[in-house]
Amino acid sequence: MYIPSGIAELHLHLYGCFTPEDLYQRGCELRGEIPRWDWFQQEYTAACGKSPTHYWTHPQGQKKLAEEILLHAPASFAQFQSRFNLSIALFPALDPSTTRIALRRAESQGIAYGEFRMVIPPHFTEPQGKELLTLLGETFLACTHATFTPKLLISLPGFSLSLTERHYRWIQETRITSPALNQVLVGLDFCGDEESQPPLEKEAFFRQLHEDNHASSRSLLACYHVGECFSQIGMDNSIRRIWQTHSLGVHRLSHASALGIPPAAMAHLPIQETATERSQHLRFLLEEYEWLHGAGMEYDLDAAQKELHVLEAQSHRTPNIHLPSVQELENTQCLQQAILRKLREAEACIESCPRSNFILSGIENLTDHPLRELAKSGIRLVIASDDPGIFDTSYIEEEAFCRNELGLSEDTLQRFREEAQHQRIPTCNGVTSVKLK
Ligand SMILES: [Zn+2]
Repeated sequence: MYIPSGIAELHLHLYGCFTPEDLYQRGCELRGEIPRWDWFQQEYTAACGKSPTHYWTHPQGQKKLAEEILLHAPASFAQFQSRFNLSIALFPALDPSTTRIALRRAESQGIAYGEFRMVIPPHFTEPQGKELLTLLGETFLACTHATFTPKLLISLPGFSLSLTERHYRWIQETRITSPALNQVLVGLDFCGDEESQPPLEKEAFFRQLHEDNHASSRSLLACYHVGECFSQIGMDNSIRRIWQTHSLGVHRLSHASALGIPPAAMAHLPIQETATERSQHLRFLLEEYEWLHGAGMEYDLDAAQKELHVLEAQSHRTPNIHLPSVQELENTQCLQQAILRKLREAEACIESCPRSNFILSGIENLTDHPLRELAKSGIRLVIASDDPGIFDTSYIEEEAFCRNELGLSEDTLQRFREEAQHQRIPTCNGVTSVKLK
């Protein structure tokens, strides 16, 4: 197997790097007294329909843990999150020694440059949050050496704008007091349950970020999970959100699977969305009619306007559940192509996580995998393993998956590698912000 030297991997979650072995070991050290076991058990049971084994009192605990935590087959985001929660339950706050375990895992998989995302736990107070940031900065710096450069992105809690703003302030203040954090921190990220969080809610936040970046000698990248799952919003809404996220001035779009999945592959899934979400999409269709119609979309402006009036009189609730019509599917395809073209022209970059995208996007066949279409489109792309500890993968295995399961060529894989090397450059010297639309 070809093993590239000096892998640059730009989309990893620190908590997602722990392997079943690491998690089991940690539980043994705690003698089975897991700090947040009840919470983990409750969430896991709700998402997976069965209670997890208490691995440390089971004769084959480590094997059971691997069986119940690793994800190899299609699953919902809630099922993924409930597995990820075990890392949080075992390591409620990452202390330096456990951060080192996660970084060493990545280093042992051949990563020379890695960008790791981490959240500040929502219940943390300001002193706790700032202490965590300082410790992460120091640990990342201590783990940096000639052949391994770990960099940090802080994932902001997109579900609460006030908490996002608070964490952002802590980050900026701690960058001043902690030279180590300032050196290793390269950006911010939004992750979690993206479907309940319309990106345009963060417009004011992004304006502030861009202003701060212009005034700073070390700008922060902005990455954003979008277009990854479609259980609560339709594909066309998801594609619109990708475009709107880009318009916020995001530097890299995380996943954006909705741009590459053939709409027909999702035709069996009922569209189910709130009145608010549907209204936002109708407003977009009305405002952008000229170029969307030019791109081949066929829809009736009067009908859209009437539907919008009806929805605006309603409360925030689910208006209907319906299967997309043939015309809707055709429009979704036109919208995909139109947005892809615009993003390519704007030199936007997508972080695609091949196994993770297969498991979480709702597709059933690899022939519908979004990366096949995205790679063909010529848009800038990097690949990454997302949560290698849960998806049981590594960058090298992601490449093998692309080669063997998706039929991507060596040239294409080389293009991904070169793009990743290229993407890491601006993080060292200050980012050129994408202009707001
Ligand atoms: Zn991710």
